[in-house]
Amino acid sequence: MSSGQGGFMTRALHSEGHGKPMHAHSMPIFQTSTFAFESPEHGADLFARRRTGHIYTRIGNPTVEAFEAVVANLEGGEASVAFASGLAAIFGTLMSSLQAGDHVLSGDTLYGPSLNQIERTLTRYGIEATFVDTSDPAAVERGLRETTRVVFLETPANPTCRITEIRRVSELARRVKALVVVDATFATPCFLRPLEWGADVSLHSTTKFINGHGDAVGGVVTTAAALAERIRKFRTDTGACCSPFDAWLNLRGLRTLALRMERHDRNALAVAGFLASHPGVSRVHYHGLPGDPGHAAARREMSGFGSTFAFEMAGGYESAKRLLERIRMMTLAVSLGTLDTLIQHPASMTHASISEEMMRRQGLTPGMVRIHVGLEDDEDIIEDLRQALEGVQ
Ligand SMILES: *Cc1c(COP(=O)(O)O)cnc(C)c1O
Repeated sequence: MSSGQGGFMTRALHSEGHGKPMHAHSMPIFQTSTFAFESPEHGADLFARRRTGHIYTRIGNPTVEAFEAVVANLEGGEASVAFASGLAAIFGTLMSSLQAGDHVLSGDTLYGPSLNQIERTLTRYGIEATFVDTSDPAAVERGLRETTRVVFLETPANPTCRITEIRRVSELARRVKALVVVDATFATPCFLRPLEWGADVSLHSTTKFINGHGDAVGGVVTTAAALAERIRKFRTDTGACCSPFDAWLNLRGLRTLALRMERHDRNALAVAGFLASHPGVSRVHYHGLPGDPGHAAARREMSGFGSTFAFEMAGGYESAKRLLERIRMMTLAVSLGTLDTLIQHPASMTHASISEEMMRRQGLTPGMVRIHVGLEDDEDIIEDLRQALEGVQ
C-alpha cells in the first residue's frame, strides 16, 4: 500500500509521505524565511521554474506543503493551498476565479465576515453579487445568470445549519459554467468531501476543527491543479501565506481529526436532544435531529453531522443573555472546532456586522444561541446547560 491510500484515518497519518529530512518521524517546522541557493544558476533555475525547490517562505515552505499534501489527499482533490486564515482562503479563491463584470451567486446564510467580504469588498471591484438560499435548488436556478462564474455556499451553514445538497447545486451551476465553491468548515473532510458531489472547490477555515485545538488561525482550499496554481499565485502576490508553525499545528490536528469528529458528533446529538426537550428552548436548529429540515439532505452527502448548531430561547434575547451569564464550565467565546465547548450569541457577536435584512433571511433571531459541543463528558456539558437554563425561563 502506498502512503496515499487506505481509509480516512490511515491517510491522515500517512499521506504526507516518507522522505522527511534527517529521518525525522514528525515533519519538522521549517522555521525559515528564505532558502540558500547552491549557485547562481540554481537560484536562476528555481525562479525560472526549470527546477523545483524552495526560494522564500511566502512562495512555498516544506512544512506548509506537507500540510497541503495531506489535505488534498483527504479531500480527494488534486492540490491544496493553505492560507493565513479562512477568510484569506475565501478571498484568494474568489479573486482567482472572478473579474470585473462577473457575477457571484452566494448563499445568504454564511459566516458573517464571509458575507461582508462578498457584499462590501468584492462589489467595489466591479463584481456583482446576489444572495439566495442555496438549500433551495429552485432559488439557485432562478439566481443563476449568464455571467455567473462562481456559486459560493456554506454547508452546514453558519449558524442555523441549513444544508445545501451540493450535487443538485453543482448540476445547475454547470449549465452556465460557474464554479461551485463550498465552505465545508462545519463538516470537515471527515464528514463531507464537496468534490465528490460535483463541487469545484472545497475550502475550510482550519482555525476550527482541522487545527482542532483552538491555537492557530488558518484556511485551506482544495481544487484541480490548474485552478490551485492560480490561487497559489494569488496567495504569493497578496502575501496571505500560512506560517510554517501554523501549518505544523494543523498537520498535527489532522492526525486526530476523525477521532475527534466522532466524539464531537456523538456529544452534539446528546446535547441537541437535551435542548430540544427543554421547555426553556423553543427550537433547536441541528441537522443531526431527525425532525430537522436539513436531516435528509445531510444524510445523503455527509457521513456525520458535526458539533456546532444554534438554538432559540423561548424567552428571546433576555433569556439568551441570562443563559450566557449563568454558564459555569463552558467558555463564552466565538469560534468552534476547539476541544472544549464554546457558546456565544450570534446576533451580537459573530453575525453582528450583517444587516437586519440578512439576519431575517438567515432566520437569525435575537434569542438565538450558538453552541460548539466539545469533547468533554457529555453529561457534564448537559449538566452545565441544565443548571444555566434553570435560572432563565
Ligand atoms: C470561522 C469561519 C470562517 C472564517 O475563518 P477564519 O479562519 O476566522 O478567517 C469562514 N467560514 C466559516 C464557516 C467559519 O466558521
